[in-house]
Amino acid sequence: MNKPLILVVEDDAPIRNLIVTTLKIHQYRYLTAARGEDAIMQAASHNPDIVLLDLGLPDLDGVEVIRRIRSWSNLPIIVISARSNDTDKIEALDNGADDYLTKPFSVEELLARLRVTQRRLALLQDRENSGPIFHNGSLTVDYRGGCAYLGEEPLKLTPIEYKLLCLLARNVGKVLTHSYITKEIWGSSWDNDIASLRVFMATLRKKLEKGPDAPQYIQTHIGVGYRMIRVE
Ligand code: CA
Repeated sequence: MNKPLILVVEDDAPIRNLIVTTLKIHQYRYLTAARGEDAIMQAASHNPDIVLLDLGLPDLDGVEVIRRIRSWSNLPIIVISARSNDTDKIEALDNGADDYLTKPFSVEELLARLRVTQRRLALLQDRENSGPIFHNGSLTVDYRGGCAYLGEEPLKLTPIEYKLLCLLARNVGKVLTHSYITKEIWGSSWDNDIASLRVFMATLRKKLEKGPDAPQYIQTHIGVGYRMIRVE
């Protein structure tokens, strides 16, 4: 199999060099861009496997780069965002970014995010090949049958809880924002819906997770959203 090709979009040379060095050591192939326009051009002409995208670029806003790439491609985009800025992070995820890394980040974290994204890609390809049953740890979702199991035990879910579970499962490994989820489930994203989401998420977790302190399947990203974790 070809080594994954990563497009690194970052105008800050020391950070770009750190990322590139990490990629080299871990046998990734890479391309670099320091400007948004260049990033879009390279994404179009080289078809990378993953884009690592800094949001603060000199010519274009990173979110604009995501929008333009999303107009023709589903390739995974991992955003690199400044710590204090949850709004940017959420905007990026809502516009189609797959995941985010917060600056400053460790090399281990960067590699972990890349692995999660690669695994998700592999799963998506698997799913296309292997039909409408989702497995994750002891969780099984039978999309066609409209039911879910934990081990052999059927999960007694309300229709909304089941929809939530399917949405998270279909995007396993990917952070979904509150507003993305509420739009998918209720078709809108008012403060009320986000409050309801918290309630439904709590009842879903009660049925799905062993203990409230050690969630195994659903991870909370405070102020951002939720992610279903791939359980080994
Ligand atoms: Ca920057």
